[in-house]
Amino acid sequence: ADFSKTWTWYNGDWHEGNPPLMGPRSHAFWLGSSVFDGARVFEGVMPDLDLHCARTNNSARALGMNPTMEVGQMMELTNEGASKFNKDHAIYVRPTYWGVGEGAGVISVNPDEIDFCLTMFEAPMPTAPGIRITSTAFRRPTLECMPVNAKAGCLYPNNSRCLNEAIAKGFDNALVCDMLGNVAELATANIFMVKNGIVKTPVPNGTFLNGITRQRVIKLLRDAGLQVEEQTLSLDDFRTADEVFATGNYSKVTSVLAYDTSEYGTGPIAQKAKELYWSFAHDQL
Ligand code: PMP
Repeated sequence: ADFSKTWTWYNGDWHEGNPPLMGPRSHAFWLGSSVFDGARVFEGVMPDLDLHCARTNNSARALGMNPTMEVGQMMELTNEGASKFNKDHAIYVRPTYWGVGEGAGVISVNPDEIDFCLTMFEAPMPTAPGIRITSTAFRRPTLECMPVNAKAGCLYPNNSRCLNEAIAKGFDNALVCDMLGNVAELATANIFMVKNGIVKTPVPNGTFLNGITRQRVIKLLRDAGLQVEEQTLSLDDFRTADEVFATGNYSKVTSVLAYDTSEYGTGPIAQKAKELYWSFAHDQL
């Protein structure tokens, strides 16, 4: 892996590259107690950075860890870090907390023995016209099984196997259902579809991340006069949709060109969502 063009703030200093931050006794190394968030710096803007920093702290709390950074501090660090990069290059921003010590029992995490780092690295915004997806038999866990309300590292081996399976079949991403068989999200992003001019997206029912980009795009589309419904959606609803698109901090709005043999193209409403997001990000909305 190429870890050049990477800067990490840890314990008061900026480190270049990929410095070792964890030992074999770290709780996160052993049992996966890490939470993170993902935000973007590109074209001189950092859309919804405050929400991404706030979610980092909420994710820590959801795993029983007491956050040690203020949202404002995290935002200041991001600004400081951004100045180390070429202004013309897009950056991915990843604040992370992880458990260090053992808690009340051997396997529990100590809420106050946690570490924090902020990693930033160059990652170009994707330029492909869209992605092709397939479905997967793997499911999203419920809140009773896993801390799905947190952006926690321990959730992602499941997303990873969904994604690997889709890639092995020649697709870019996987459409993942919840335990009831209703569509939840993609392995790495939230999902929307359009039918007869109405935008539809799954109800946040605790089985998937209610993404910051998702919520932003819903608001932007509604403000622009489009009808957006959160409702229970099946794989068949997606198969027969007029268009499908995905949202996430990394790529923002992405057209889904096809789901298995259903072809949608880039889609006029997906295009509209991309334009609305761009205007919002550049403070023009
Ligand atoms: N679902 C999953 C599984 C994700 O990893 C992401 C990316 N964080 C999203 C949805 C989109 O969330 P957001 O818009 O907050 O980045």
